[in-house]
Amino acid sequence: MKTWLITGCSSGFGQRLALAAAKRGDRVIATARNVKAIGEMAEPFGGRMISLPLDVTDAAAARAVVAKAVETFGGFDVLVNNAGFGLFGAIEEGTPEEYRPMFEVNVFGLIETTRAALPVLRRSGGTIVNMSSGAGIAGGAGGGYYNAAKFAVEGISEALAGELNPFGIRVLIVEPGPFRTDFLGRSITMVANEMQEYAASSRKHYRETNNGNQAGDPDKAIAVILQAVDSEDAPLHLPLGPVAHSIAERKLASFRNDIDAWRDITIATDFDQH
Ligand code: NAP
Repeated sequence: MKTWLITGCSSGFGQRLALAAAKRGDRVIATARNVKAIGEMAEPFGGRMISLPLDVTDAAAARAVVAKAVETFGGFDVLVNNAGFGLFGAIEEGTPEEYRPMFEVNVFGLIETTRAALPVLRRSGGTIVNMSSGAGIAGGAGGGYYNAAKFAVEGISEALAGELNPFGIRVLIVEPGPFRTDFLGRSITMVANEMQEYAASSRKHYRETNNGNQAGDPDKAIAVILQAVDSEDAPLHLPLGPVAHSIAERKLASFRNDIDAWRDITIATDFDQH
């Protein structure tokens, strides 16, 4: 039986994962910044699920959740850093008031929750699941701030994988394409001041027309995450769905092209040998 600590359980992937893990008999510490939003979720599972308040931008709250998890279940062996939201808009259009809060949740919140959890995970071993995105694989016009936040998640996760391997902790980076959660609805903000100059790369229309129509089935995504957490040999990177896969394929091909195209020029930068 595994014990999960999951952030952002009020809707979407976090909620579905918490319920799926509990339904199969695991123990779950389900957290949300508004704990009322998940108040009744734990009831059918007796003592196997507890609901706790956690705004991931509050490091002290993360430490309190970890302490309560230890008191209740003796610890946990799967941490899922799921809480997140996005900001669409060109880099020139965005303001610090718009993009900094997104980094606070997606990046610094993930860091602080992980730092709070590591003393426990280093004792038990286990798995850290970090929710990145297809947007964490390749950047694209109109999504730069969200790209940057999820690229940070990728870098932190790859470093953690190396640091934590000696403690029997592995890391899974989940990179979903578009899945039908609340994400394109309430979890994407558009920049307030859109500029005509960037109309061609605006994602406003994409957001409006795709919200509720995403091809990705979140329950199927959750099944893959459960399978990966159970598996001994799951890969570090898990692009989920055909869109994320094709982003990864295109990124690999263009990266390969770039490093090959100027190889002789770009490697000739060491001091001359005398
Ligand atoms: P969602 O249904 O909108 O869920 C987002 C969750 O994040 C909500 O529970 C929200 O809680 C929580 N959250 C936001 N700020 C928080 C904070 N400061 N502290 C704690 N929780 C916070 O969307 P989702 O698709 O399940 O998103 C989950 C993760 O998947 C995100 O990291 C997102 O970037 C990633 N993702 C989603 C997709 C997709 O297409 N669905 C694709 C790629 C990546 P509140 O109810 O309090 O707002």
